[in-house]
Amino acid sequence: MYPLCITTIDKEVVAGGSLIQGDIVQMDEAVQRYNFNTDSTLALDVVNSGEPIGVFELDKDLTISKTNQREGFDQCRPIVVVDGSHLKSYYTGTFVSASTLDGAGHILPLAYGIIDSENDAAWTWFFEQFKEAYGERESMCIVSDRNESIIKSVSRVYLTVPHFACIWHLWNNVYKKFKKSHSKLSEIYFSMAKAYTQAEFDSLMEKVEKVDIRVKEYLELAGYEKWARLYAPVNRGWTMMSNIVESINAALVSVRELPIYDLLEEVRKMFGRWNCSNRKEVLQTYTTFGKKYQEMLTLNEAMSTRMTPWYKVVPSTEYLHTVNDEGRHYTVCLLEKKCSCGRFQVDELACPHTWAVLKSKFLMPEDYCSDYYKPKSIVLIYEVQCILCRTGKNGIYQHI
Ligand SMILES: [Zn+2]
Repeated sequence: MYPLCITTIDKEVVAGGSLIQGDIVQMDEAVQRYNFNTDSTLALDVVNSGEPIGVFELDKDLTISKTNQREGFDQCRPIVVVDGSHLKSYYTGTFVSASTLDGAGHILPLAYGIIDSENDAAWTWFFEQFKEAYGERESMCIVSDRNESIIKSVSRVYLTVPHFACIWHLWNNVYKKFKKSHSKLSEIYFSMAKAYTQAEFDSLMEKVEKVDIRVKEYLELAGYEKWARLYAPVNRGWTMMSNIVESINAALVSVRELPIYDLLEEVRKMFGRWNCSNRKEVLQTYTTFGKKYQEMLTLNEAMSTRMTPWYKVVPSTEYLHTVNDEGRHYTVCLLEKKCSCGRFQVDELACPHTWAVLKSKFLMPEDYCSDYYKPKSIVLIYEVQCILCRTGKNGIYQHI
């Protein structure tokens, strides 16, 4: 599976060819189209020589069914991280990408491309194409730095999808404005952004107020829902920063000076390699959940042992239980998959209190954690649909 390639280049920048504003090029699509009419050797020659490969319109059915992209994204939490990075080459332009995380915690690139610059028109166009390819999923959200064009374009293209700020970028702004308070408050701010309960959030905010009330006012003005997980209208999970896209940008340093076409091709190959190694890893996963989340679950189980004596878990209905965790009481509802500590519903993974309840009832955690973390879902992301085409000569079908 290769991610969708979207470009809005308005100059003739492709070696020997031309891409014009609004064109979409799906690289593997291009290869496949050539394959249909010629043979595969010629198709690869055309691509490698940097000759014009033609400009292909996004054909939803064709592109999506060929790459299984949409189905892949459907197996991930609907959290999309976008970012732009200036190209330092002669050709200028900005590299943009949209990604998410798979259920093992690996980056899954969904779309990438080059736009002339980070302006409203370019970002709006990028999101329009993204929406056409991936649809609008329930409880979807978009995370990025606070680039105004991104924020504006998200609200233009998606009427109900919220945009969240990368908490690191927001804190950088605080640094620029309130340098002195910044270092004292940094740790408190990050804990506040990740707080699971109102009590936790309020007590941290009180501390901020004591150190520098202007920082509190600034964060209030930015909108709590933009940066604090507790106030987010949809679950943003662990995606508090846009650093997953930044690691893509970091991986591109060596190819950023290439001509645009070569750059896009290098990116395509790099993403292909990532997907291939992630697929290999998941095929060799024999635990119930993907690596990262299996480790978290194991940690939660270890923490639950202090609550496992039978008298610490008190049932009130079949699903509702109160758990005594060192004198603090937590309510766990197995039916709604919620715990009053806030973690069960946000992490979609059994928290220590849920573990205590599950153990008291001799239940396994599989049914109480998100399917997204299970290898059987992850493997679907990387399952590439086999496309068969007739070779013409002997009528034998071959895999492309
Ligand atoms: Zn809990």
